Amino acid sequence: MSEDEKPREEKPAEKAEEKAKEKTEKKGKKARTGRKHEKTDTTKFYEVKGSEILRKKKPCPRCGPGTWLAEHKARFYCGRCGYTVFEKKEAKE
Ligand SMILES: [Zn+2]
Repeated sequence: MSEDEKPREEKPAEKAEEKAKEKTEKKGKKARTGRKHEKTDTTKFYEVKGSEILRKKKPCPRCGPGTWLAEHKARFYCGRCGYTVFEKKEAKE
């Protein structure tokens, strides 16, 4: 065995690596709350009775059919265009 056949070993500059590590800083990311936005299940807005379809919600007059008004205490609100209807007091008696 002759020493001339030894493969060359190159030592990387370790000092440069250490300096790079120092630069790495943690960026404060906001922890997300567990709430996820779930897509509205529009199939719940319909109910099929026999051969008829009952629409449980009011459609938006601005956006047209397919866009439903969200129900609130005394008003209906369209989340798409912002249309708001205040519930009329109907004589239920
Ligand atoms: Zn709308």
